[in-house]
Amino acid sequence: VVNFNPGPAKLPESVMRQAQAEFLNYDGLGISVMEMSHRSTEFMNIMSETKNTLIRLLNIPDNYKIMFLQGGATGQFSALPLNLIRRSPNSSADYIVTGTWSAKAVKEAEKYGNINVVHPKLKKYSRIPDETEWNLDPEAAYVYYCDNETANGVEFPFVPETGNVPLIADMSSNILSRPFDITKFGAIIAGAQKNIGCAGVTLVIIREDLIGYSMKECPVVLDYKTQIGMNSLYNTPPSYSIYLMGLVLDWIQQNGGVMGMAKKCVQKSQLIYTTIAESDGFYSCLVESGARSRMNVTFRIGGPGGDEALEKEFVEEAKKANMLGIKGHRSVGGIRVSLYNAVTVEEVQSLVRLMESFRQARQ
Ligand code: PLP
Repeated sequence: VVNFNPGPAKLPESVMRQAQAEFLNYDGLGISVMEMSHRSTEFMNIMSETKNTLIRLLNIPDNYKIMFLQGGATGQFSALPLNLIRRSPNSSADYIVTGTWSAKAVKEAEKYGNINVVHPKLKKYSRIPDETEWNLDPEAAYVYYCDNETANGVEFPFVPETGNVPLIADMSSNILSRPFDITKFGAIIAGAQKNIGCAGVTLVIIREDLIGYSMKECPVVLDYKTQIGMNSLYNTPPSYSIYLMGLVLDWIQQNGGVMGMAKKCVQKSQLIYTTIAESDGFYSCLVESGARSRMNVTFRIGGPGGDEALEKEFVEEAKKANMLGIKGHRSVGGIRVSLYNAVTVEEVQSLVRLMESFRQARQ
């Protein structure tokens, strides 16, 4: 089976095999990680090794703190304003909205402060709004954006420049798929279930000077100061998901690190974008060329408006060939192929062959 699911998504086979082998008996203890106390030495070791691997992979300096939290990236849509918006004298924050997920983040943040979308609203989520049109507020608590919009297939090709205002990125669907300079960011949030593990754990990396501004209404489980002070153990952490993330991070390290992942992501996505470009309009990607995602390739079949019957047929044919998860997001339609780190080049080549034969049979 070839798994192109958008998340939860494919995990490296060797990781799954290791998890299977250790499932009932972790490290000779006779119990599963799932059955272990989160305060045991063994679990503490899992946490610190996972954290250290992440620090190595992303070159995270000492003045950044790492949390493993519950509540998903969606929980962080609330946690960010709850923890940070008070840094601004007018409780305001700037948002860049390039797709479904950043729009949801705005909706949540509006409950807690004055949210300014810094550019004219996009009619369609198919591009990054022109930077020269951004109206950034120097007194904003932070500038927020989504580095890769999973549903729309829009990915930032650059890191936004925000001067002294801390930049915050949702990297749920592209973290560890390319190198970046963490010192350009105030914080990064990422649900694990696409590129770095299974559902249940959300990674938060934050610069330490941004901690300590939470609103009194902030639920304690989302309070960064409390969770950092307790090494993410204020309450029971998603222990099994953290363990699995540790295995995935080891796998990334053993497979060329972040640069290794980056090369593969470009290769895989280019295979599909080239097939689209060479299809005489049978396939069309509606995202502008500079903003096309390396992780989630979205396209329509049978013209830019999409022929829904043809798209349904394509999804069915793919299913017959044991390729799963390519139906577009319900808010977007069409086809979406998710190419997270664990998806292989050979798997993408098999999809490209299907795209070719499907087109030839109908064009
Ligand atoms: N942000 C992005 C970019 C996502 O792709 C998703 C989920 O698909 C979310 C946020 C929401 O994550 P969760 O379901 O873990 O809350």
